[in-house]
Parts: sequence; structure tokens; C-alpha cells
Amino acid sequence: MTRRDTTPRTTPFWWEDAGPPAATEAAPLPAEADLVIVGGGLTGLSAARTAARRGRQVVVLDARAPGMGASSRNGGMVGGGHRLSLDALSARFGAETAAGLLREAYLDSAAFVERLIRDEAIDCDYRVTGRFRALWRSREYDPVARELDRLQALMPLEAWMLPRARQHEEIASDLYRGGVIYPRHAALNPAGWVAGLRDAAQRAGALVQGDTPVTGIGRTATAFTVRTTRGPIRAGDVLIATNGYTAAPFHRFRRAIIPVPSFIVATEVLGRDRVRSLIPHGRMIVETRERHCYFRPSPDGRRIIFGGRAAMFDAPEALVRRQMRALLVQVFPQLKGIRLTHSWRGRTGFTFNFLPAVGQMGGLWYAMGYSGSGNAMAPWLGHKAALRILGDPEGETAFSRTGLPTRWWHPGPAWFLPLADVTFRFRDLLAGIGRGT
Ligand SMILES: Cc1cc2nc3c(=O)[nH]c(=O)nc-3n(C[C@H](O)[C@H](O)[C@H](O)COP(=O)(O)OP(=O)(O)OC[C@H]3O[C@@H](n4cnc5c(N)ncnc54)[C@H](O)[C@@H]3O)c2cc1C
Repeated sequence: MTRRDTTPRTTPFWWEDAGPPAATEAAPLPAEADLVIVGGGLTGLSAARTAARRGRQVVVLDARAPGMGASSRNGGMVGGGHRLSLDALSARFGAETAAGLLREAYLDSAAFVERLIRDEAIDCDYRVTGRFRALWRSREYDPVARELDRLQALMPLEAWMLPRARQHEEIASDLYRGGVIYPRHAALNPAGWVAGLRDAAQRAGALVQGDTPVTGIGRTATAFTVRTTRGPIRAGDVLIATNGYTAAPFHRFRRAIIPVPSFIVATEVLGRDRVRSLIPHGRMIVETRERHCYFRPSPDGRRIIFGGRAAMFDAPEALVRRQMRALLVQVFPQLKGIRLTHSWRGRTGFTFNFLPAVGQMGGLWYAMGYSGSGNAMAPWLGHKAALRILGDPEGETAFSRTGLPTRWWHPGPAWFLPLADVTFRFRDLLAGIGRGT
């Protein structure tokens, strides 16, 4: 008798259902295009759909199968917000831009995605489940409640506070200090989402080509030459949509993006009753801890999908799995001893101001920097980038004013991530000591 192999698969759980991102059939690359998009994730495909629907000749190029980046690997949570408060955003960008940043992140991007999924009939288990933002420290509760009041005075944001005494209505864990419910936030299968968006871009007329790394971009007075491993394309405009996978050919962008890995595991089948006993309303759950965990029921409600920053660098799989299991059991001690069936990772693209950005630099357009939250923001800003390229006033977005700041000590490869890992662990340790009862 052979022993059952209990080593988790290292491919995303989502791929079991939606399939892995499919390779594209190699078509001849055109000599010229109106718009070449580098990166075939949610940003690039959404931009391609918008520009192609307006009659532009669009080519999307991805180094691997389109969708193979973060877009088919993520936690599948839809709906956002910002790490920065209203005051912090206002101090940095002025009150009007701050209001725009908040409105687009909380409302407009999510509404855009909901509409797009409906209009294009994308099969990706999209469901409005709501989110519980679980507070890590007692002293966060009152300021978070005050900030929520201010946000609700600014826009029609549905949300309410849940005190710690009632926390078990949302989660069978004593780890948190109450939190916020956002009932309009949603869940989806990210692999189905990005595959459906790719079909929509192709239906609109865009040529999407995987296995075509862009190796460099040259510029003449009137056009760009996009160099690829399969030959050059002359392009009127170029959009860089590489987010956490931005690499050497795009030096200036690489200096602005910090490729922080995020890790996820799927539990074995626990059964619907058991999962419901842990997360009664099936909400998406995100913590406010510095190296935060995020988790949810699987779309069929039979497993927990649990993500977190087991490390801030590409740590070895065995170490990551140990850490992820420890975090899962810290939240749900009831799950001690359960088996993990999948354990995978992907790269988020953080910016130095924690804000995504869309704009133009050295003539190249860009949309990137979702800082861990891109299921709604990436397609939204891809769409906005395309409109801006077309010269459409609807391309106006507050995220064209956030910029892509750099730091002198980040000249290329993110050498500092292991150091950041130690710093954030220490900060979590301190925050853990002062969490309050
Ligand atoms: C583990 C994990 C969990 C997450 N969870 C959530 C979540 O629950 N909710 C949420 O909102 N967000 C989440 N995110 C973030 C979200 O997935 C991303 O913000 C979003 O997918 C970014 O989309 P994108 O198209 O900009 O980038 P990506 O999907 O990463 O695509 C970039 C593409 O660029 C390509 N590329 C790079 N260089 C080149 C080149 N030279 N030539 C050609 N192609 C190139 C890459 O191959 C890649 O396919 C998570 C991310 C990760 C990694």
C-alpha cells in the first residue's frame, strides 16, 4: 500500500475550478499598432478592452500566459479603501483629490467591476458577501469609528462598526478587537475573473499574446519601438501594466514598485457547516495587523482560503507553509491539525506612498502600484489609462495625481525586503504587547 501524498500543491486553489491561465495561440505580431500594452493581468486586459472597443488596434504582450501574475493568484476579495486616513490624504494631495481617491477606491472601482462582470457575463463566482475589517488593537476602535463617520459624511459608503462583544456574529475567533463591516464588498474566483476579462478584451478586438517578453522600448520622434523576443512592434502609445512583476527593462518603474510577495493556503475540505461556524456570514476578512492576514470561505463554502505575509521576501516553501499554518491556527485554534491542500504565492506591487497611480513618464503610460488591493483598482485604472491615452475627458481620475515616488536606496532589485521583514515582525511584536484587552 502506498502512503497518501499530503504535500500541498503549489498552484493556486482557484486553478482547480477555473483552470490555470491558458497559453495563447501564437499569432504573427503586427508590424504596427496604435497601442501596445506590456502585461496581461487585470490592468492590461481592462485597458485593452476599453481601447479596442473604441476602435484602436491594440496588442497585449505578456512574458508568460496572460493572467499568470498576481491576477489569477490573489485572494479574490473585491472592494477597497486606503491605508492612509482622510487627513493624511488631504495633507498630501489637498481635500478635493483626497475625496476623489476615497470615492474611487471605495465606490467607483467596485461599481465598475460589478458592471463589467455583468455586461461581459464573466463566470467567476462573483458574490456580494461583505467584508469584516478586523481590528488588531483596542485603541484603534474609536478613531476608526470617527474616520468612518467622516467618510460617510463625504460619500454614500455603506459600513458599520461591530464592537468586540458582538464579534462572534462574524467570526469564531477571540483574536480581534471588534471591527468594521462593509456589506457591499464582494468575493470572486480571481482565475475566472482574469480569464473572463481576457476573453472580453479579445472579443473587443485586442490581440493578446503570451510567451512574448518585452525586452526593451525605443523611442523616435513620432512612435515607440517595442522590442520583444518575437520581433519589434512600432506603437503609437505604450502602456506599462506590470505591477509587482515590473523588471529590468522598465528601470524607472521598477524603482517605484516594491515587489512584496503574498502567500496563500487552502485548507482541506472542512464542510459547509464547519466553515459557517467559523465565518457565519461568509464575509471576506482582513486584519489591520501590520503584516496582515486575509481570509475567506472558498466559493463553495467548504474550505478556508487563508492569505498572509508569511515573509516579505521569496522565502522557501517549507518555511512559508509552517508560518501560514501557525497564523491560521492563531486565528482559528479550532483548526489545529487540519491539512492544507494548496499553498501558493504571488507578487503584489507596493508604492512608497501606498497608492496606485496612473500617468505618463518619459512618454510611456503606466497604471500600477495597487499595494495589495487590485481586483477592483487594477481594472478601474487600466480602463482610466486607456481613456487618457484616447484623450477622453472621462479618463480623469484622482490617481493621476498620486505620482510614483522613488527612493535613492531602491535603485532596482528590492534588496531591502528581508530587512523590512525583520522590522515589520518587530513592529507586530510591539503592537501585540500593546493590543489591549
Ligand atoms: C497572493 C496575493 C493575494 C492578493 N489578494 C488580493 C485580494 O484579495 N483582493 C485584491 O483586490 N487584490 C489582491 N491582490 C492584488 C491583486 O492581485 C493585484 O493588485 C492585481 O492582480 C494587479 O494586476 P496587474 O494586471 O496590474 O498585475 P499582474 O496580474 O501581476 O500582471 C502583471 C503581468 O506583467 C507581466 N510582465 C512583467 N514584465 C513583463 C515583460 N517584460 N514583458 C511582458 N510581460 C511582462 C507579468 O508576466 C504579469 O502577467 C493580491 C495579490 C497577491 C499576489
